[in-house]
Amino acid sequence: MQRLDEYYPDPPIPLVHQDEFTLLVAVLLSAQCTDKKVNEITPALFQVAGTPDQMRKLGEPAILDIIRPLGLSKQKAKSLAGLSEILVTQHDSQVPQSFEELEKLPGVGHKTASVVMSQAFGVPAFPVDTHIHRLAQRWGLTTGKSVVQTERDLKKLFPEATWNRLHLQIIFYGREHCTARGCNGTQCGLCKELFPKRRKPVVWLKP
Ligand code: SF4
Repeated sequence: MQRLDEYYPDPPIPLVHQDEFTLLVAVLLSAQCTDKKVNEITPALFQVAGTPDQMRKLGEPAILDIIRPLGLSKQKAKSLAGLSEILVTQHDSQVPQSFEELEKLPGVGHKTASVVMSQAFGVPAFPVDTHIHRLAQRWGLTTGKSVVQTERDLKKLFPEATWNRLHLQIIFYGREHCTARGCNGTQCGLCKELFPKRRKPVVWLKP
C-alpha cells in the first residue's frame, strides 16, 4: 500500500462521467471493453442522454447506433434502455444507493454495483474484475480461482478505509506494469521488492 501510494498518490476515476447516472452508464459499457474506448463513445451518448429520462426517450435502437463500436453493444443498449426505464419509474430518476437495488438493474452485476457504490457514493467496496484478480494472484494476495474468492481475500487483507483507493491504484499498476500479456517475474518495482528471489514469470489462473 505504501508503494502504491507513492506510485499513484491521487488515482483518478478512469471513466469519464458527470454524475452517478453517467458513471453507472460508463461502468456498464466498460464490460469486456477498455475504459479508453468507452471514453471515446460516452461524450456523444451523454450529450443526448445524460439523464435516465433522456436515455429512456432515446430508446434502444438509437442507443445502439451510438454505442455500436463497443463490444456486446446490443446487450448493453438493451440494458441501458431497461435500467433507465426502471430508474425513472421506480427510483425517481435517481441511481439507488444500495448494492441490492443496483444489482436488480438490467446489466448491473456485483462488480458494476461495487464500482458505483465506491466511486459515486464513497461506500467502501472492492470491485474485482479480471485485472484486479490477475494482480492479486500474481502478488500472492489470493489463491482464489474466482473473482468472488479474490474479493473476499482482499477485503480481509486490507482495512476497509483503503479499499476504494487501493482498487484504483491496483488498476493503474496493472495497466502500466502487470499486464494481461504476461509477467516477466522479475522486473516490476513491487515484485522486485516483495519477491526478490523470484526468477520466473507468475502463472495467472483466469477466473
Ligand atoms: S513482476 Fe510485474 S508483471 Fe509480474 S507479477 Fe510482479 S508486478 Fe506483475
